[in-house]
Amino acid sequence: MSRFLKIYLYNTLTRRKEVFRPLHKNWVGLYTCGPTVYNYAHIGNLRTYIFEDVLRRTLAYAGYKVKHVMNITDVGHLTSDADEGEDKLEKEAQQEKKSVWDIAEFYTSAFLNDILRLNIKRAGVLTPATKNIKQQIALIEKLFRTGLAYETTQAVYFNVSEFKTYTKLSRQRIDEKITAARAEVIQDPEKRNPRDFALWFKRTGKFKNHALHWPSPWGDGFPGWHIECSAISTAYLGQPFDIHTGGVDHISVHHTNEIAQSEGAFGKPMVKYWMHGEFLLLDQARMGKSVGNFITLDTLVKKGINPLAFRYLALGAHYRSKLNFTWESLSAAQNSLERLYDFVERLSGLLRRNLDSDYRGFASIVKPRKNFEKAIYDDLDTPKALSVLWNLIRDYNKKPVRYQPREVLKLLFDLDQVLGLGLKDVKSEKIPAEILQLAEKREALRKEKKWQEADHIRKKILNAGYEIKDSPQGSQIKERHN
Ligand SMILES: [Zn+2]
Repeated sequence: MSRFLKIYLYNTLTRRKEVFRPLHKNWVGLYTCGPTVYNYAHIGNLRTYIFEDVLRRTLAYAGYKVKHVMNITDVGHLTSDADEGEDKLEKEAQQEKKSVWDIAEFYTSAFLNDILRLNIKRAGVLTPATKNIKQQIALIEKLFRTGLAYETTQAVYFNVSEFKTYTKLSRQRIDEKITAARAEVIQDPEKRNPRDFALWFKRTGKFKNHALHWPSPWGDGFPGWHIECSAISTAYLGQPFDIHTGGVDHISVHHTNEIAQSEGAFGKPMVKYWMHGEFLLLDQARMGKSVGNFITLDTLVKKGINPLAFRYLALGAHYRSKLNFTWESLSAAQNSLERLYDFVERLSGLLRRNLDSDYRGFASIVKPRKNFEKAIYDDLDTPKALSVLWNLIRDYNKKPVRYQPREVLKLLFDLDQVLGLGLKDVKSEKIPAEILQLAEKREALRKEKKWQEADHIRKKILNAGYEIKDSPQGSQIKERHN
């Protein structure tokens, strides 16, 4: 815990870096928009989840208890982020000839597997939209009471003209939004204003065969996409809460609508800090499922890439900068990660051989830790944080006596609580040749029934940090972990 430094975060709402001051004394409420589970996440989506994970880990490193909530969208997200097209899950279910529930279940577990492989911590509350229908209906009813919702024969809409601060997050001019929403007005002639967005779709017209539907005061139907995040965040974090994140593509529609719903219903701010991660580009174009321009984590794994190499690549760019994905840069990231692992392995080995050594007298490593914290507390400057790490390694390699290996290793493990590169899981599989020779010699002595001499060698191996396990199948040498 290092509270001596302030944490600065870039707030999209104010368009500047601000000192982070939590609303509550010891905990931080964090809401991160989750995936729509109609397909695999692409690595552009995953980049956003990595940024959010670093944020969460940084807050935890700084000593805060983080209450992390994430939704899973399994209904109501239409093929455009606005209200046009079909429900993404229903469309996929038809294509794959499966039920909507099967689709949701399959891609939810695919998502969980992806984040596990990327060392992304799972949200404490991870809840699908379909499990929060009651809360969504209650919120829409509240919007009726505050005069911000109205009903047509096809749907229930949010009345944007009645909500004066509608574009405060996007800072878009209102006529830009009108153009963007024009196509839709043709679909519902009773809609008062093209920029109004749907809160509830009725099971009628193009949705008359919609598989998922629930009773509501406005008839059978299903919620619009945006209302789930307002309902879930309020239910689990209250209002206002500290930090809400997502990709930059959410600023102008999804998050703008979330603010309208939550602030329109409760008459107070929804979120103190809004944070957004930039795009991952593929061939200089935005990665997107709709345009068929996307790569999944499985694609990388099939090419022999360690998922954490992708995490390393993501950390190499600031979350607010676009990152152009290339196979060359990914393989460079994998090389760097392996060099990092080799270093950790080497130090662990040193430590083993000096288990009882006394290193007192060496200076402790205060400065690299401070520099790392300074970088990470400066709006999560992960590229700089990584360079602090490499500088330390370079320094150490230049003059190993300067640092105590135990302390260097401890520092790396501490910093990895933020980076999440799995340094503690680095397993040394390389048994040094000298140890192998000793083991062979011991085996020979055992065969000659020279037990005492064999045991002497076993102790020697043990002191070097390895242990021998004898079994009927033979002897096995392993690293000692204690
Ligand atoms: Zn959301």
